[in-house]
Amino acid sequence: MSTTTVTDAAKPTTNTIVEELGFPSDPNNLYTQTVTTMLEAAECINLRRRVKLILAQPKNEIMVHFPVRMDDGHHILFKGYRVQHNNALGPYKGGLRFHPNVHLDDVKSLALLMTMKCSLVRVPFGGGKGGIKVDPRAHSVTEMERITRRFCSAIMDVIGPEYDIPAPDVGSNAQYMAWFADTYMMSNVGKDAHNGLRVVTGKPVEFGGSLGREKATGQGVVDTLVELLPEVGLKVEGMRVSVLGFGNVGSWAARILHDMGAKVVAVADHTGAIRNDAGIDAHALAEHCQITGGLKGFAGDAITTDEFYQTAVDVLIPAALEQMITEREAAMIDAKIVAEGANAPTTPAGDRILSEKGIEVVPAILANAGGVTVSYFEWVQNKTSTYWDIEKVDRELNRHMVMAARRTVLARQQYKVDLRTAAYIAALDHIGKAYSVRGIFP
Ligand code: NAD
Repeated sequence: MSTTTVTDAAKPTTNTIVEELGFPSDPNNLYTQTVTTMLEAAECINLRRRVKLILAQPKNEIMVHFPVRMDDGHHILFKGYRVQHNNALGPYKGGLRFHPNVHLDDVKSLALLMTMKCSLVRVPFGGGKGGIKVDPRAHSVTEMERITRRFCSAIMDVIGPEYDIPAPDVGSNAQYMAWFADTYMMSNVGKDAHNGLRVVTGKPVEFGGSLGREKATGQGVVDTLVELLPEVGLKVEGMRVSVLGFGNVGSWAARILHDMGAKVVAVADHTGAIRNDAGIDAHALAEHCQITGGLKGFAGDAITTDEFYQTAVDVLIPAALEQMITEREAAMIDAKIVAEGANAPTTPAGDRILSEKGIEVVPAILANAGGVTVSYFEWVQNKTSTYWDIEKVDRELNRHMVMAARRTVLARQQYKVDLRTAAYIAALDHIGKAYSVRGIFP
């Protein structure tokens, strides 16, 4: 393969860059899919080749192995990742996933999505992501605390409050962030130790967290929907909703929509699926999941996963994992809008089917950007030692989400593309301008 040069001399197509950089040709590879989607949008605005090349690969891919003592005295060696995709607009920012299937390509994809998301909602961060190959359900609380603290210690030298700021993602939560921040602060002792507090966001409110952060991603999904619903002649009141994944994102989106008068008629998670045409009480279900770990056993008709997808709704919110809506699921979906609470829940083939069926897809980099937006607010509050009330958090979040939605709709009108491509265009245009004025060192 020829050496990759960062030059504008040649103007190859999207596919040429994918081939030139040696990405896996497997069409099911998540990173190839994510990069291809990004590069296709970049083509629409003739983004400079050097910027496309830079964005096609993360700046840094860090892999660590670290031993942790289990409660019974034996040790397990864990694998952890931190991928720093791009920091042209600000420090790297992105969650930490604790899941047995965490894989480098997935973390790279999620880091790229973070770069796009931060740019689209105009928060001054770049994109990063990380994770540990671990099943939190298989470990005690004390083991998870040691795993989290030891992982923090393993990556401490390559992150920092002004450089790379992790947050919770699937399988991690505010408690894990508290352990992470405490480890970082205790290891950076001295008069500046307290600056370490903002090395992570998504912390508990009692320890530097922001009001409204826990519900922020779900709130952002709702804010975006409210802005876009008139485009398809829908309103929240009486709207039928189904939710795939009832963790942080799914349960908060459902609870907020429920309170606004929408009817949550079907929910699925890793333990099963339920339907209730009269409406599921999202608050009661969230409580049930909190106690039992999943929706199994909650009131409502138990249905199969296929029946979940086939349920007629106005809005389906995928809020579980990546690549869950393939051609097969897309063919079954009976909805007017798919609002991507999860990252990359729809494969390109699934996307094509949804588009053929006239289903509007609100892409993840727009729909779920509320989390990183309030993370940014948390970071600002930590930096200034000034804490905001919930009204201010919600107001500022809404402003960012509405502006991002409008930017996306504007790009769709201007370039005659779907919402996903439009969101990428709005994000890439901003990064491209930053590179134009910054130039490339040296
Ligand atoms: P979570 O761990 O709180 O919840 C995940 C949910 O997915 C659980 O309800 C789980 O049962 C369900 N799930 C897992 N495997 C499943 C399967 N095979 N079938 C059906 N359901 C399954 O995670 P979360 O924080 O809510 O994140 C969900 C998605 O949203 C992820 O893609 C994440 O990257 C994305 N996201 C999260 C945030 C955030 O602030 N938490 C922000 C932006 C994007």
